[in-house]
Amino acid sequence: MKQHFRYVQDFLRKNQELSFVILLVITSVILTQLFQASKSQSTKEYLKVINNLYFQKTFKNVLEGFEPKYLKVEHKIANNESINNILKNYGVPKKEINNILNSLLENKVANNIKVNDIVNLIIDNSNMTISKLGITISKTKKIELIRDYEKDIFKKKEIVTNLQKKIIFKEGRITQSLYRSASKQNIPANIIVEFARIYGFQIDFQRDIRKNDSFQIIYEVYEDENKKIFNTGKIIFADLNLRNQSNTLYYFDKKGNEGHYDLNGKSAKKALMKTPINGARLSSPYGMRKHPIDGFNKMHRGTDFAAPEGTPIMASGDGVVIKASWCGGGGNCVKIKHNSSYSTVYAHMSKFSRLAKTGNRVKQGQIIGYVGSTGKSTGPHLHYEVIFNGKKINSQTLKLPSGKTLKGKSREQFEIRKIKTDVLKSELILKLS
Ligand SMILES: [Zn+2]
Repeated sequence: MKQHFRYVQDFLRKNQELSFVILLVITSVILTQLFQASKSQSTKEYLKVINNLYFQKTFKNVLEGFEPKYLKVEHKIANNESINNILKNYGVPKKEINNILNSLLENKVANNIKVNDIVNLIIDNSNMTISKLGITISKTKKIELIRDYEKDIFKKKEIVTNLQKKIIFKEGRITQSLYRSASKQNIPANIIVEFARIYGFQIDFQRDIRKNDSFQIIYEVYEDENKKIFNTGKIIFADLNLRNQSNTLYYFDKKGNEGHYDLNGKSAKKALMKTPINGARLSSPYGMRKHPIDGFNKMHRGTDFAAPEGTPIMASGDGVVIKASWCGGGGNCVKIKHNSSYSTVYAHMSKFSRLAKTGNRVKQGQIIGYVGSTGKSTGPHLHYEVIFNGKKINSQTLKLPSGKTLKGKSREQFEIRKIKTDVLKSELILKLS
C-alpha cells in the first residue's frame, strides 16, 4: 500500500512540473506577443481577446502563483508615436490612459517628451493600471510618475544623473546685509545659509557686520547638461573681512576631521566650554536641590563650581559682553552673548577683569573675572548658566561639537590642503579677469 501511495505522489509531482513548464511556455508566448503588439497591427485581434474580461479572469486564475504581478516594459518612442497609443498597445484601459496623460500635463512633463526618449512602464497585471511610468528625457534627466495607491494620484519624481561638478569663486562687498549682497552675486541660497552657519560661532550677523565689510567664497555646484544648477556642494574656502580683519576658513576633507578650519588649523565649530574655570570642582549640578540659603527646594538652573576666591573665570566661547555689573542674588555677574541663540552667565564674582565691559568682544578662554562669593552665596564658587534661545539649559549635558585644533599628521595634511586651495583660488580669480 505504502509503495502504491508513493508512486501516485511521484506521478503527481512529475505532472506538476510538467504543467508548470507548459504554463511557463504559454506565459512567455503571451508576453512576447504582447511586446510585439505595439509594432504589429495583426496582433490587435489578439489584444482584444486579452482585454476580454472573462479571458483575463481565467488567465489570472490559471496563472495564479506563476504570473508576475507586474509587467515591466521598456519602450523607445518611435516617429508618430504618442504616449496615448503606446499605452493603448500595451493594453492599458482608456480611463487609466487619461489619468496618466492628465498627470503628465499637470506635472509639465508632456512638453518634454520627444521621439527616441525611453519610456519605462510598470503595469499592474491584475487590473492593467500603471504603477510607474518613467521617461528618460535627456542624458542627465529622467522623470518618473509613481502611483500613490492611498491617494490614487501620480507623484512626480525627477532623477538626475551624470551631473558635472563645477567650482565657483565669488566675492563682494556687503552693502546692506550679507544675504542681499550674496544674492546679488547669484550665490545660491543654500550656500549663503551654509556660509552663515560656518561662521555662526564666531560672528553675530546682526551686530558684527558693518557696511563695506566684504566676503570671498569658493563653493561647489552640480550642473546638468544645460548648465542648470541642480544641486550645491561644499564651501571649499570662505573669508569674511570685518573692519579690515580677515576671518579665513578652509574646508578640510580628511575622514574624521571633515569641516572648516581657520589659518591655524582651529575648527570653526567653536563649542562653549563646559567648565570655564581651571582646577574647579563641580559642587552643585543643574537640577532640583535644597537652596543653601533659602532652605527650600528649588530648581537650580545653572552649575556651581567651587573654587578658591580669586580663581580666574574664562569666557566659555567667543562673544560680546552684554552685562558686567551687579545683578542682585547673582552678585557681580557677567553675561556674554555668543550668537543669536547662545549666551552665558557667570555669577558671584569677587571682581571683573578689564575685558568685562559691556560691548567688549571676548574670545574663548579669555579671563573675564575672578571667583568670589558676592550676592546670595554661602562660599566662593562660580555659578555658570547657559541660555539657549532665552531658556536656561544644562551646560554639562550640552551637546555641542568640540572646537578642536588639528595636530600632527592631520595638521600637515591640512597645510597642504590650504596651499592647494590658495592655488585654486588664484586660478579661479585669473579666469574671471
Ligand atoms: Zn548656582
